[in-house]
Amino acid sequence: MTDLRKTIVCIRCPLGCEIVAEKREDIYKIQNNKCTKGWDYAFSELTNPVRYVTSTIAIDHNSAHRLPVRTSLPVPKDKMFAVMSAIKLVEVTTPVHEGQILIKNVAGTEADIIASGCSS
Ligand code: SF4
Repeated sequence: MTDLRKTIVCIRCPLGCEIVAEKREDIYKIQNNKCTKGWDYAFSELTNPVRYVTSTIAIDHNSAHRLPVRTSLPVPKDKMFAVMSAIKLVEVTTPVHEGQILIKNVAGTEADIIASGCSS
């Protein structure tokens, strides 16, 4: 892996520390974090950034009627496009209950797409 240097705004609490994270010759250096949660966040952002994906899915063949959905786990940022593509291919029929799994192991990420609302 090549050397990296990033300024990362920590989102683990409202303080929003601006953390400087670097990797040089397999040595990680993380500065300006006020606590260990910030260190963990910056390390993850530098090595394997992940995000929850939220979107909507069409219901009952009606493109104007959409069900809010999200991933059950954060997924790698480089898989977000594949996750969104998989979501676009799916349509559900009512009733759907909150927390219902709509796509298992979406795009091979081990996360499921689950309903974050309900529709009857
Ligand atoms: S480093 Fe710690 S104190 Fe700073 S924003 Fe992150 S969680 Fe909050």
